[in-house]
Amino acid sequence: MTDYKSVYDAVHAASEEAVLVAVSKFHPYEAVLEAYFQGARVFGENRVQEMREKFPPKGERPEGMKVYLIGQLQRNKVRKAVEWADRIESVDSLPLISKIEAECSSLGVQMDILLEFNSSGEEQKSGFRSEEELLAAAAAIKDCPHIRLLGIMTIGPLGSDDERNRKAFSRTRKLYDEVRKQFPSVSVLSMGMSSDWRTALECGSDEVRIGTAIFGERK
Ligand SMILES: *Cc1c(COP(=O)(O)O)cnc(C)c1O
Repeated sequence: MTDYKSVYDAVHAASEEAVLVAVSKFHPYEAVLEAYFQGARVFGENRVQEMREKFPPKGERPEGMKVYLIGQLQRNKVRKAVEWADRIESVDSLPLISKIEAECSSLGVQMDILLEFNSSGEEQKSGFRSEEELLAAAAAIKDCPHIRLLGIMTIGPLGSDDERNRKAFSRTRKLYDEVRKQFPSVSVLSMGMSSDWRTALECGSDEVRIGTAIFGERK
């Protein structure tokens, strides 16, 4: 059962400006279309292959439909990712940045990206591990004419400890403010998922990525 509408209403009631990304990983294209007809326009996918198999290519999608890549990206899949995704929200290393720049240059396109921050310090999470590393990556993008830095993405800590979530989100918000001072193109702070989006919005998120609450449990 796809229920984009009530999640959208709840998010919108909490924050009028926040963008809701409907995370459709593991769910079929029929569910994507159901959400689309309920008003969803932006979808999130974790894996390049699943994204390409599920969504039509750019330019052949229903009007306004966009797909963001939000899962860890291997360097050998960058070209395939750039061809399909409207944005890459999970950029987590300097070599990945160089590869995106090279592939975009060769394809003659520009890519919007977010830098992923590991705000919880959890080992199994991807993302830049310190503020310094992320700021260095943002600086490196100044030399990449085919990449536009739009903002920062983070995944909250595992579990549902609200205090820990708040700490991680507030830390990311501080970093975001720092990056925004230095980079005028930056305007997106993406944090919050099905279990923690309210806390994320309270901490200044302007984009939440919600899967389970919209599409149900993943198999
Ligand atoms: C799967 C995923 C989400 C959505 O998670 P839910 O708990 O199902 O809402 C959001 N962001 C990222 C990066 C994800 O991988």
